[in-house]
Amino acid sequence: MNLNKNYENLEQSYLFSTINRKVREFVANNPDKKVIRLGIGDVTKPLCKSVVDAMHKAVDEMGVQESFRGYGPEQGYDFLRQAVQGYYKKYNVSLDLDEIFISDGAKSDLGNILDLFDKDNVVLIPDPVYPAYVDTNIMDGRKIVFAHGNAENNFLPGVNDIESEVKPDIIYICSPNNPTGAVYNKEQLKSWVDYAKRNDALILFDSAYESFISNPELPHSIFEIDGAKTCAVEICSLSKTAGFTGTRCGYTIVPQELGKLNKMWLRRQTTKYNGVPYIVQRGAEAVFTKEGMEEIAENLNYYKENAKIISQTMQECGIWFVGGEYSPYIWLKCPNNMSSWEFFDYLLENAQVVGTPGAGFGKNGEGYFRLTSFGSRENTIEAMERFKKLFK
Ligand SMILES: *Cc1c(COP(=O)(O)O)cnc(C)c1O
Repeated sequence: MNLNKNYENLEQSYLFSTINRKVREFVANNPDKKVIRLGIGDVTKPLCKSVVDAMHKAVDEMGVQESFRGYGPEQGYDFLRQAVQGYYKKYNVSLDLDEIFISDGAKSDLGNILDLFDKDNVVLIPDPVYPAYVDTNIMDGRKIVFAHGNAENNFLPGVNDIESEVKPDIIYICSPNNPTGAVYNKEQLKSWVDYAKRNDALILFDSAYESFISNPELPHSIFEIDGAKTCAVEICSLSKTAGFTGTRCGYTIVPQELGKLNKMWLRRQTTKYNGVPYIVQRGAEAVFTKEGMEEIAENLNYYKENAKIISQTMQECGIWFVGGEYSPYIWLKCPNNMSSWEFFDYLLENAQVVGTPGAGFGKNGEGYFRLTSFGSRENTIEAMERFKKLFK
């Protein structure tokens, strides 16, 4: 037996363990001080009523002979795929049911879909970004090149920000972005779609935060862009949309226009996966009802209001930032040219506010810092008051 040696090439991630250790030590030495965590990368609002009611009902069905269900379709029940289909219609994207695949979340699909691609493919990944894209490709031993996000391009790298002459075969795009909160407009996405078509590359579009977009000009889905069905797969999830991080449900769109890929993904899923629990799929279906949509909007608006409070504070303090408008994330330049970790220590020491050092999301994150809007309103306001005392 030989181990997959690619795992030796993974970098140890000490990001969150280091944050936790530093906070623990600070609290032990300063028991009288209240620490506020604005580094939370997980939702905090509970599931909405429609979802809870639908899941209760589904549990009852499972306990009755007549309505009990065993294995379901690996790619998801039709009732949920139809609900997703209806959701995309709102953005003028029409999908066939067999292009929609229900899963237990975006992270799994982002990793699993790599089963379909040769290890010789070159992947293009934005920097900074969600770390799973890099790590899943290191595990397979693929060559990785980066598209550089920076203050000049407002952390929205374009086709001219690709670092290498090497032609990428697979292109990751995350919009709205984690960790920067930056959102591509239609024109910018169109240039990525055109680039992918010119180069026979495939785009993997991660739209985990699409529900934070409330500007009708901005695209929720890459399939709003002409020609995208011939060169893109879209991966989304109810985690951030509807608080499903612990409940687990997402969906991936593989257009028929991609040829073999649709059938290959179906084969991959039916072979290696047995689907999302019926109870969870009924809960997910409820998200897409009129009531469900209204209820999740309340939670999304709560987070967005927090983000606004943070953004306004950054403006008042003259701190450069992106995001915060259609995203739970605010990505700021550390004041006084501090490094990401210097700023982390400074903020903890002087304001007892905890965020996430940007350096943890890629080389270009150095000197930047991520704050999130998943905290409570009271804590967000108090943290921003402390910011103003330090920087205004
Ligand atoms: C949270 C997140 C995901 C993971 O979503 P799950 O459906 O919970 O697995 C995927 N992509 C990005 C960019 C995220 O921030």
